[in-house]
Amino acid sequence: MCVKCETFLDGLFEHGLLIDTGVDGLYGRGGTFERVITGLENLISRYGDEDKAEVVRFPPGMNRALFEKSGYLKSFPQLAGTVHSFDGYERAHNALLAKLEGGEDWTADQRVTDIVLAPAACYPLYPAVAKRGPLPKPGLLFDLQSYCFRREPSKDPARMQMFRMREYVRIGTPEQVTAFRAVWLERGRDFVHQLAIPFEVDVANDPFFGRAGHIMASSQRDQGLKFELLVPIESVEKPTACLSFNYHQDHFGLTWGIGTQSGGVAHTACVGFGLERLTLALFKHHGFNVASWPSSVRDALWG
Ligand code: AMP
Ligand code: ZN
Repeated sequence: MCVKCETFLDGLFEHGLLIDTGVDGLYGRGGTFERVITGLENLISRYGDEDKAEVVRFPPGMNRALFEKSGYLKSFPQLAGTVHSFDGYERAHNALLAKLEGGEDWTADQRVTDIVLAPAACYPLYPAVAKRGPLPKPGLLFDLQSYCFRREPSKDPARMQMFRMREYVRIGTPEQVTAFRAVWLERGRDFVHQLAIPFEVDVANDPFFGRAGHIMASSQRDQGLKFELLVPIESVEKPTACLSFNYHQDHFGLTWGIGTQSGGVAHTACVGFGLERLTLALFKHHGFNVASWPSSVRDALWG
């Protein structure tokens, strides 16, 4: 693949696919990398378009008050990222510059803003849907994409701190939502099959924090609420989740007060595509030179 490169990450840097910023998990993307992302997005749309999802795009920041209400801090405080900003006058500014000059910590004077970084593309959606009132009878279906932040620095290029997630989100009755997830479990397999990369689908759990988190994680597994489509990227023994199929039951419906036509609490599910992870999987299995990828894969992405 690349004789000079010790690791897959080195190879990605060497070939200009990712650009080193000096922070693990925070990378620039080269043009070829982005061309693969665009191809993947188009291929995903080819599977999802027939359902006529409502397209919504949120920025990678979300309303802090809504984030607080979402329950994310209860389950994943270790992953959250908040936005802070300078909020002082001249004197405080001079103090900040002096600290900076002296190599001291200048960040204590930063104040938290009303924006936090989105941890998943679907988080800002639920409160926006709740504002619309009761769901229409067929429920709702959304097509989302956003940069997301998770504080999990790593040398594994597939574990980024800032990455893009494409999602379809279904909101409706339990029957509507579980049917959606079953359809996408099949479509997801078919989609990755077209990319000609090895994969397996397995039951999974989210990285819930702390001791109570262990119980939540095993209950999530026991109930089969999360499945992942895994592809070997950094390790064969521990393949990486590239697609997730999540059934939240009535968690977001209750949190946000989303009701169905018949007066029940809405259930929700989402399928999330890790765009960078899928791109990395393609480079891992087909090589750094896109021109030599199998023609079926090139056709699937750009045909
Ligand atoms: P989740 O919300 O945890 O189910 O994540 C949805 C998808 O986002 C996963 O299936 C991954 O493909 C992707 N993803 C999650 N965490 C990361 C990360 N740290 N770096 C890159 N992609 C990620
Ligand atoms: Zn989601």
